[in-house]
Amino acid sequence: MIKESEALNEFRTIRKNLPEYLKKINKPVMGYFETYVPEEIIYAAGMHPLRISPNNRQIAVGGSKIESFACSVSINFLDQLLNGTLAFLKGVIFSRYCDSLRAIADIWQENTDDSFYHFIPYPTISTKESINFLSDELKKLADHISNYFNIKINDAMLTEAIRISNKKRLTVLKFYDLIKNGKIAINSADFFSVISLATIMDSGEYTQKLEQLMKQMELTGDRPIENSIKVAISGIMLESTQFFEIVDKTGMRMVTDDLMFGSRAFKGLVIKTKEGPYHAISKRYLSKIPCSVKGNIDLRIDELIKDCKEADVKGVIFYLVTFCDSEECEFPILRKRLQAEGIPVIGLEGGYRVNSEGQFLTRLEAFAEQIGEEL
Ligand code: SF4
Repeated sequence: MIKESEALNEFRTIRKNLPEYLKKINKPVMGYFETYVPEEIIYAAGMHPLRISPNNRQIAVGGSKIESFACSVSINFLDQLLNGTLAFLKGVIFSRYCDSLRAIADIWQENTDDSFYHFIPYPTISTKESINFLSDELKKLADHISNYFNIKINDAMLTEAIRISNKKRLTVLKFYDLIKNGKIAINSADFFSVISLATIMDSGEYTQKLEQLMKQMELTGDRPIENSIKVAISGIMLESTQFFEIVDKTGMRMVTDDLMFGSRAFKGLVIKTKEGPYHAISKRYLSKIPCSVKGNIDLRIDELIKDCKEADVKGVIFYLVTFCDSEECEFPILRKRLQAEGIPVIGLEGGYRVNSEGQFLTRLEAFAEQIGEEL
């Protein structure tokens, strides 16, 4: 048993009752769907940036508006937009990410009346020109928000928003380091709960709670799950608590990740540039460890290998959301590179929700047995 931390219990409760938490946010809420939309600009406008995550409701309306070969995550997002679940949002911001989300953006634009909608035409590569281009586009986003809501966004507000986001990033990265170095032992389901909330909760509140959690857990000195089999989990939009619970049931434990809303969302700070805050934000987001929908697969894999070695993981679990083309293309390359480094990999595929626990459990138990032999 891990000694219970008050802060950890609070994170668990928020994750389990997300709609309740969202109801209590006392700022206008702006939604986005992936971590390339800069939260700093939304903060600077005095709004709450909320990364929308797939929910557990049965798909109803969304499925009839889009081809069935769209991934289940995007269909769920569309469903939430159309069925009123996201009616509390003041607006949504999309960026050029994957084809499925591009389609969702178009369908939503067609179906929405006068609620705020913005699409950021994102470059895929990071060059001097693309950074300047995105910087201009981010300024257009800020102007759009300013004009639509009659809010002023100046450089000082943006600089303060950058400070808050950077502080959160540093705190999250410290949390990853403590787990990687064995100073904190936390099971996969709790690790997932804590990390997935970083782009959902208020940043100031989140950072404070995470600092509290680190202090409480470091102090316990009670880490009986240290001997579980350490693994990394790789993927893009794997947002199922149940999946992480299955991993825990097999005796494996996630000690690092390569997920869109996980480590990839926090590595790299916004560093001041002489061209101003929009340029600094643009540079940071275009230099991020890329998701598979962007370029430079080597950067992602090199980083994953580095993390695996630092955390001394015994294997990598890769989760593919069915019909996520970019992940499907990257997986064989990722597996080959990891195996060349002597890191075993298992590839699993399914929806954003786990419908058949038995099948995953059996395969993961076999994987745990295989990599556990080397302990
Ligand atoms: S899982 Fe893949 S295809 Fe689906 S929304 Fe995410 S990136 Fe796009």
